[in-house]
Amino acid sequence: MNNTNSNYNAGSSARGANNTGRTSNNRSGGSAFSFRKRSDSFSSARPSSGAFRRTSGSIGARPSHTTGSRSVNTSGPRPSSAHSSGSGYRSGSSVQARTSSRSTTTRFSPTRNHVAAPQVKSSTEVKRKMAKRQPSLRSTIRQTRMNKDVGKMKSKNIPIPPVGDNIRIIPLGGVEEIGKNMTAIEIGNDIIVVDAGFQFKDPNETPGIDYIIPNTTYLEENKDRVRAVFITHGHLDHIGGIPYILSKIGNPPIYTRQFGAIMVAKKSEEFPHIPKPDIKIIDGNETIIAGNIRVETFPISHTIPDAMGLIINTPYGDIVFIEDVRVDNIDGIPTDEEVKQYKRFKDRNVLLLTLDSTSVEKTGYSISENIVVKNIDKIIKDTHSRLIIGTFASQVERILEIIKSAERYGKKVVIEGRSMKTNMEIVKHLKLVDTKCIVPVTEVENIPPDKLIMLVTGAQGEEFAALMRMANKNHKYIQLRKTDTVLLSSSIIPTNHMAVVNLKDRLFRSGAKIITYLDSDVHASGHGNRGELQWIHEQIPYKFFVPLHGYHYLLKLHAELAESIGTPTDNIVIPDNGSIIEIREKGTKIEKLEMKVPHEIVTVDGFAVSEIQNVVLDDRKLLSEAGIFVVVASLNTRTGQLKKSPDIISRGFVYLRESQDLLRKSRFLTKKILEDYMAKNQGPVDFDKMKKKLGDEMSKFLLQETAKQPLVIPVLLGV
Ligand SMILES: [Zn+2]
Ligand SMILES: [Zn+2]
Repeated sequence: MNNTNSNYNAGSSARGANNTGRTSNNRSGGSAFSFRKRSDSFSSARPSSGAFRRTSGSIGARPSHTTGSRSVNTSGPRPSSAHSSGSGYRSGSSVQARTSSRSTTTRFSPTRNHVAAPQVKSSTEVKRKMAKRQPSLRSTIRQTRMNKDVGKMKSKNIPIPPVGDNIRIIPLGGVEEIGKNMTAIEIGNDIIVVDAGFQFKDPNETPGIDYIIPNTTYLEENKDRVRAVFITHGHLDHIGGIPYILSKIGNPPIYTRQFGAIMVAKKSEEFPHIPKPDIKIIDGNETIIAGNIRVETFPISHTIPDAMGLIINTPYGDIVFIEDVRVDNIDGIPTDEEVKQYKRFKDRNVLLLTLDSTSVEKTGYSISENIVVKNIDKIIKDTHSRLIIGTFASQVERILEIIKSAERYGKKVVIEGRSMKTNMEIVKHLKLVDTKCIVPVTEVENIPPDKLIMLVTGAQGEEFAALMRMANKNHKYIQLRKTDTVLLSSSIIPTNHMAVVNLKDRLFRSGAKIITYLDSDVHASGHGNRGELQWIHEQIPYKFFVPLHGYHYLLKLHAELAESIGTPTDNIVIPDNGSIIEIREKGTKIEKLEMKVPHEIVTVDGFAVSEIQNVVLDDRKLLSEAGIFVVVASLNTRTGQLKKSPDIISRGFVYLRESQDLLRKSRFLTKKILEDYMAKNQGPVDFDKMKKKLGDEMSKFLLQETAKQPLVIPVLLGV
């Protein structure tokens, strides 16, 4: 969201700068205005299908972005550099060669408009969307071929043979990342799906993207055979994709336990335009028949109520499907309850086990959640000032215990943070705990400090989460005080390391007392450590093993764990997203097919404007690295004569006000390039070629002068 925001701001800053005079040499209000319009339409206009075209034969040429109110085509070549390798244009299937130069006439004419007008969203509309900070109903889902996937594309062209008597397991997400978990299981004429999560964007790989969801092309092509979706638990990496995916795969019924059911229903409320999901609430111990597939459920321990595993019956034995799981234990000894749950597998014929790999790197057993809860209870009891507890909203079970402790010691609890509040509504709805002690944040000043607990999101240093706002002194109701105690009941997710360092710096500056998991056992992960995973392996007498839920290296480590306890190497398959795993020859062999089902990244981008999304992403990366440089020249369409000195607009590149020499040279060069071009090319002006020439030369020049490669956009106004 954060990045999406700044993407929008890029447009608005062009506007702002015009007022403050930062735009150098913006002598003509007219052209500055037209650029403003352009920058708006950049992010919000949806071009008609023909509007985005590629200059035939010119490697690295950008598609033209047609403008809003004036018919000015702005297209420019990529800087002739590593960036111009054309990598961003691999989704060329949707990019057509530009065949007619007429389509790019840049005659200045207020009445002509290349953009399909009804589809242009106004900037206010965009703003409103951003203000809501929710996935837009109009969010466009785009299938993007990311650079890293290119080598895998050959798989797409090979037809996938029918499953026959084999059993197919196809992870569609979650096995090359932590997030967007989704797996299809195909037996005979039936397909069932386990989970449909999303992944939060990677600000470096996919700047501005809201979410990444699994690629469901294979299921879409076979949607008449998709019988059901099973949800293992209500975390977003398992349910977040549902609103984007469900209708594409034929709206199959969703089987989920209670807590997950409400999570799915709540998520779907944000999407009133799509059909209501057919949610079937099931128990932790139930048998469901989906098509001809029989599925049994069993409860497992995680961090959210109602997590479950599946036992999928097949003609050759059972698939025991477990995603996120921990093993409740006391000092490394599984509790009786756990022992009882896993006893069910003792005499079963288990064909395949799948299992969470998230914490396989951590040795031994994780700290028992009971100990964590006891330690937090003690802190709640012994703290005689305001206590602020930062934790993950997904730690629902711990949050329930914190509320119980507060109740026990007669303290009041304020809940801050959207995701925390959402989960609390579900808790209230299900009456999982007495919520009398919960008070609104507006009450915060009316409660004696020693009676106040604030339960907040943002322990990972998330920029807009409650804790960060408090630390930054811009929370509306809560200011940190020296006398406060801040308890961070979470560990650091490795990718968030610097954000947490930053948060801690700010918290320590406030003078408050800070307690973290390094000081005391106040956090345990919901994903079993290596010892717990091994224990699960030992409880389930399986033949084949497929590790799930983690980056490739985690899956590999998990495979090694399985080998170390006697699973033959040939019986283990480490999947990638899109891998087709088949259990063949009447359940005696497991293998990964050469081909994959389509697995290119699918992005949800509230601002998506084209089907060539990777071009948009590449531009965003380029802009973030070296900014933008726009040259606007007004030409006589007949003679090609420059009407006036070219305008130059730039953002994030160099500070133009202090780069007068560069500006002067750039203007001079523009004039020279265009005049030279005209001198050499008699007859009607080919604006396209001219723009390309100008863009190429300008990129080279700027690289020479500044060692930077901004996105150069030449704009030729025909008058
Ligand atoms: Zn989970
Ligand atoms: Zn998960």
